[in-house]
Amino acid sequence: MASFKDLALKPELLQSLQDLNFTAPTPIQESAVPALLQGQDVAGQAETGSGKTAAFGLPILHNIDTTLQQVQALVIVPTRELAVQVRLELKQLGKNIENLKISAFYGGHAFSQERASLAHPPQVLIGTPGRLTDHLNRRTLDLTHTKQVVLDEGDKLLEMGFEEEIDQVIGSLPGRRQTILFSATMPEGVKALIANSLRNPQFIKATSTTI
Ligand code: ADP
Ligand code: MG
Repeated sequence: MASFKDLALKPELLQSLQDLNFTAPTPIQESAVPALLQGQDVAGQAETGSGKTAAFGLPILHNIDTTLQQVQALVIVPTRELAVQVRLELKQLGKNIENLKISAFYGGHAFSQERASLAHPPQVLIGTPGRLTDHLNRRTLDLTHTKQVVLDEGDKLLEMGFEEEIDQVIGSLPGRRQTILFSATMPEGVKALIANSLRNPQFIKATSTTI
């Protein structure tokens, strides 16, 4: 059986995995984490509940430079519920990393509070497409240092009609970046999004889950 220790993650992350009782990586984690640690773009497909958050979360957290207060990783999610949930999971995974700040921006939050919090930008920002474009349009959010971006629940992002917002957010990111997409299903629209936003992606499909 595969072990998280084979994945060459920072000791702080291995410690939180132990604290969380994540004893072994799920299939999508076992395949996606090494590819992401190598810096590749990844398009990953696995069913709901198969551990996709940690599959992108562990490599992202591994690469954060906590000496810098810049948005280095951006996770785009379709709903505020998911924004809250992903932030919580990443906070748990990153709890042993000092000076790590993870924020979630979404509709229903006071915009002014989010803007004020950007005086000390988080290294990891999770956001819904509409709220992220609000910040970009009002020039309150600087994504010029964002080196890793995740489109989480790609199928749902498109079902909910966020194509334009996604294009705008992706368009405001540096060209030199790692782009990651995870989805439970791969309809044509998601394949087109992958073709437009990812560079030479590795496609990973995990069919079963062992959680
Ligand atoms: P998905 O995004 O694929 O729907 P999640 O990332 O939300 O799935 O994970 C589902 C649940 O499984 C979460 O509660 C998460 O904490 C847990 N989990 C993820 N990876 C592992 C693991 N390797 N071992 C045990 N539990 C895990
Ligand atoms: Mg998920």
